[in-house]
Amino acid sequence: MLRYWLLVLETLDKALAKHYGWNCFKAGQRPVIEAILSGKDAIAVLPTGGGKSLCYQLPALVRDGLVVVVSPLVSIMEDQVMQLNKKGILAGCIHSSLTLPRRNSLMHLLKEDKFRLLYLAPERLKSRSIRQLLNEKTNKGKLVAIAIDEAHCISAWGHDFRPDYMRLGEIRSFCPGVPLVALSATAAPKVRADIIRLLNMHSPIVQVCSARRTNLHYSMRRRSKEPLKEVLEALGQSRGASLIYLRTRKSVDKWTKLLQSSGVSAIAYHAGLDKELRHNALEKFLEQPNPVIVATIAFGMGIDRADVGLVLHLNLPPSPENYLQESGRAGRDGLPAQCLVLFSPGDRISLEWAIKSSFAKSPNDLNAHLEQQRFEIAREQLRKMEALAEGDICFEQALLESIGELASKCGRCDCCRSSKPLTDWSAEAQKVLLELEEKKEIELRRLVRNLGKKSDKSEEQLSWLARRLINAELINENVDGMNLLTIKETGRCFVKKPWPIYFAA
Ligand SMILES: [Zn+2]
Repeated sequence: MLRYWLLVLETLDKALAKHYGWNCFKAGQRPVIEAILSGKDAIAVLPTGGGKSLCYQLPALVRDGLVVVVSPLVSIMEDQVMQLNKKGILAGCIHSSLTLPRRNSLMHLLKEDKFRLLYLAPERLKSRSIRQLLNEKTNKGKLVAIAIDEAHCISAWGHDFRPDYMRLGEIRSFCPGVPLVALSATAAPKVRADIIRLLNMHSPIVQVCSARRTNLHYSMRRRSKEPLKEVLEALGQSRGASLIYLRTRKSVDKWTKLLQSSGVSAIAYHAGLDKELRHNALEKFLEQPNPVIVATIAFGMGIDRADVGLVLHLNLPPSPENYLQESGRAGRDGLPAQCLVLFSPGDRISLEWAIKSSFAKSPNDLNAHLEQQRFEIAREQLRKMEALAEGDICFEQALLESIGELASKCGRCDCCRSSKPLTDWSAEAQKVLLELEEKKEIELRRLVRNLGKKSDKSEEQLSWLARRLINAELINENVDGMNLLTIKETGRCFVKKPWPIYFAA
């Protein structure tokens, strides 16, 4: 047995050098590959740029068999297939936009065992011919493993839920005994639990590497009324490519024009542009030395440009996980890069509306209970993100905590570098909560106006304090459209017996 493993280890090193030209594995890769080769299930949570795809590609090459990869995005699949084919490794992908002749020729090559990697969109697994094919491969011992990429999409807790992913567990019934490997860059413990349960994984090895990226500098601050100056400043300090994210297509168009009229040759990208324009934007982004792209979050997943020096969000991101994923596109070359969020308190309210209406607009085949649960989770995540951006805890530490990683302060972010002293706000908090207790329920603006008359703090400071008390769970804010504030039970306890509340402001 020992001799067998020594042989496997040696083979892995040789295959790595032969196909990829590297002489050592990145952290976490080897245990996952070894698990797959010994027929075990595995979960790999490796950070962006941590080499997840190698974990399932190498076993196919070492075994000279087929690995099926389920991936949520056609652009990622096509990109990976192109990269593999360039390396001389035969790979293909099947998705709904393939023409019939192309699909038939792919199926033919597959039947002849030509492919090492086959990428599939999740809904393809419903097809009888695919199921039959995979079953035949399994029976012939040709199917080395099944990889589920972006596996967090399976969980209602994840930031990118896809209903089609929930049925992937069925794969086990027509590929018995084939190891499953689930991969993700960010999967909090709750998400990992869902992955194991829904994929019917059998005692998988769980390989989690730290998502800490020591070359990223996080800044999150309130957006001024005219943020153009700040944006131009950030662009001036950036290196390589810069990504500016906006929530809506309309604001992408507006900001692209604004930047262009300020002398920045900004490129717009969103799903509403026609295919050719999108293709041109992508080409420019990949080829120009210092491109500035203004985009909705549709841009970025699977796009391979290592020298992104700035990822700038001009709205509050919907959740810490989303933000980790998107900001993670900065500095993949390991050199310092800036991740900046400019947000306004109004962002959460408009985002909450957008989430609500998207749930109402696209009722899919999930049951109402799950939809409601997903809405509640999305709302909670949004609040977490706001608390994080408004807060005075190390940004990186708080972001990592949101995906279940306990880390020390980063020493690099704005919070860590700020020397703002902590101030006791308990006396002011008491006034806010007393007013709220008296009024039972009230709009934030009216609350602030009432308090402004009795306080030496400005209305802006009082509004900020009320938001912090919402984040601290002392005040409840309804999202029924009126956004009325009410005091929570913890708030009542505070009123009876206050405790010190420190904020850096
Ligand atoms: Zn920090």
